[in-house]
Amino acid sequence: MTSIVRDLINTLHGDGDTSHSLDADMQRVLQQLADLHGLPIETLNPVQARAQPTPADAVAALLKVDGIDPGAAQPWAYPKSADRLVPGAESDLSVRVYTPAGAGPFPLVVYFHGGGWVIADKNTYDASARGISGAAGAVVVSVDYRRAPEHQFPAAWDDASAAYEWVVLNARALNGDGERIALAGEGAGGTLAIATAVALSRRRISQPKSVLAIYPIAQTGNDGTESYDDSAHAQPLNKAMIPWFLDKLAAEPLDRTDKRLDLINADLVGLPPVTIVNAEIDPLRSDGAMLETALKEAGIEVTRKVYGGVTHEFFGMAAVVKRAAEAQEFAGAQLRVAFARIPGREFKSVLPRAFGFASFDSLIKIKAIGYAAKHSFSDLKPFEFERDSARDDEIVLDVLYCGVCHSDIHQAKNEWSNTIYPCVPGHEIVGRVREVGAAVTRHQIGDIVGVGCMIDSCRMCEPCLAGDENYCDGPNGWLATYNGPMVPAAKAANDSNMYERENTFGGYSDILVVNEDFALKIPGNLRPEIAAPILCAGATTYSPLKHCGVKPGDRVGVIGFGGLGDMAAKIAIAMGAEVILFTRTDEKLAEAIRIGAKAILESDIVALTHLHNSFDFIISTVPQKHDINPYIALLKRDKTLCVVGALETMAGVDNQALAFQRKNVAGSLIANLQDTQEVLDFCARHDIGPEIELIQMDEINDAFKRVIKGDVRFRYVIDMASASARPPADSVGRF
Ligand code: NDP
Repeated sequence: MTSIVRDLINTLHGDGDTSHSLDADMQRVLQQLADLHGLPIETLNPVQARAQPTPADAVAALLKVDGIDPGAAQPWAYPKSADRLVPGAESDLSVRVYTPAGAGPFPLVVYFHGGGWVIADKNTYDASARGISGAAGAVVVSVDYRRAPEHQFPAAWDDASAAYEWVVLNARALNGDGERIALAGEGAGGTLAIATAVALSRRRISQPKSVLAIYPIAQTGNDGTESYDDSAHAQPLNKAMIPWFLDKLAAEPLDRTDKRLDLINADLVGLPPVTIVNAEIDPLRSDGAMLETALKEAGIEVTRKVYGGVTHEFFGMAAVVKRAAEAQEFAGAQLRVAFARIPGREFKSVLPRAFGFASFDSLIKIKAIGYAAKHSFSDLKPFEFERDSARDDEIVLDVLYCGVCHSDIHQAKNEWSNTIYPCVPGHEIVGRVREVGAAVTRHQIGDIVGVGCMIDSCRMCEPCLAGDENYCDGPNGWLATYNGPMVPAAKAANDSNMYERENTFGGYSDILVVNEDFALKIPGNLRPEIAAPILCAGATTYSPLKHCGVKPGDRVGVIGFGGLGDMAAKIAIAMGAEVILFTRTDEKLAEAIRIGAKAILESDIVALTHLHNSFDFIISTVPQKHDINPYIALLKRDKTLCVVGALETMAGVDNQALAFQRKNVAGSLIANLQDTQEVLDFCARHDIGPEIELIQMDEINDAFKRVIKGDVRFRYVIDMASASARPPADSVGRF
């Protein structure tokens, strides 16, 4: 054993304790490095330093001794690579693009090598970048940024941002997905990765979904940390090398305290999840711990792992050091998880930073006014409240119109036994965008958009990934436009609420904040007040009509001629079906003819008998449990009766009637985003929409009563201009 390796072991653990000190694989690499007879970097000038043997040289030498091909030694399928020039901040930069096996498009990682901003380049760190590409299944772009002392601070930082921007703009050409992009770096490059994420978070550019920082330099104010002491003589990085690097890097003393370098004092709020990898025997180990604390205190999701028995630079040694392979696997898994998250989900608003707030608890609030029920038995009353301002992926709407669905009544009166009070109902919303978050791409200020029953979902569960956000089975289900998550924290595992919103307030208010993906485009030829009820009544009926395959020539039955029934009938007719409505109400028979349907009184048993076995699809929109057996008799073999109205136990279905002709009884819940957009477009194309009666906000309690009586043709829509005309202050409740 050479004296360098022996000194290192002794420094760390004392003479008596070497058993758990240096990992055997690592020891072999360091021995090999020592045998290459490099000189101490801190005693050399930069040109000489760059010419010294590197840990990568030691690994290559070991592979040669062992007769192993470097490609075969990698634990991952060997990503192919190609070099090219890309524009930097001042001149072109050479980058190496690593592409994993498979078809793509792949997630993207922009990687910055180590070497204290002075020595080393993408060749020295080839194995690290290649390992990340293989482990994360990502295209990695490893950047040769400008080095000091030729190009002092902040040249490398400027190049790092320029390279990231180039990758975003050229994602497609790289066979990459510009929405799934991360930053990574090692040593000095780890510092660049974090600093670049901080710089980007202030810009309107596709944000990284994750940052991987491998033993970064995270602070410049304290060279007496625990690891600076216990790893002072470590190899290949020792304590004396750090000031040598900083001397070359800094053009003037103030540069050393710049927050792009002194990361623990930077404004880290708003960063994406960060993964830190540290080596136990490394002067920078404590920097990793300090950065972890700083990130946590800024509210950032951070995961840090310290690998025992290994030193700085170990990460790229997967071919010969088992712990390096483990670290690459861990880093890859962290990146894969981040890439699996839907863009925007994990980012918070830049507003706190802009306004100097330290945390999201102190977010700026938006004052709103609406109508709320305080109890199940009370009328709706004017209610002033505050909404969180938009997160990066959210938009703020001025609500123009809101439909009055029977569900609003069920919820306000706690008929589903889950209402959170105060309850501001309303989920058939059309509004004008007044503000967009920093990462919003789908909408612009001034756009007219629609919001239905959902304002967010987990985006990670199987139904969400399949595009069925309305069946989200994430820990909190989907986030309802009002009444909070479908699975509130009290019923969720670990009492968690991934949305960080408890009681959401709906569209009976002047302002709404919604995730941009959950705001639908309102076609230009659809009047906003007509579009509003389509967002629930239209979508809820369109979705089962579509999924049960209703086609021209089919006979469709609609039970209950109210808000949903009106839309179900019109959509089915536009799909080419013959529609028969079943109603309790005499006066609606003529209404049915006017919209191109027929109608039969529910009580007309003779007429029903004549229709046995003749329907291709029946939808029940009746708001209460009722006897569906007479309607099952109307279905043809193999056909479906879908109950959307009564969201409660429906007793007494005659299974003989079902079984003997293989008929189906089904349920369906609202509609996913795709179907909701489709039905808006469908209605615009076919020039159909709900029959509506416009009301003022303060008429809502009468409107509720008339809906319950069935005395509305067929949907009330609130003109929300009447809500922002604020009622007298003393009539406004704060509950
Ligand atoms: P409406 O009150 O506008 O219409 C319901 C119609 O059902 C009435 O007009 C009436 O029509 C008929 N009806 C039959 N029996 C009754 C009764 N006992 N009381 C009142 N009406 C009765 O309601 P909506 O169309 O807005 O909503 C219908 C149901 O659908 C509600 O329960 C609502 O919660 C539910 N819903 C379910 C959704 C889902 O995702 N599954 C989504 C949205 C709403 P007629 O006079 O012709 O008999």
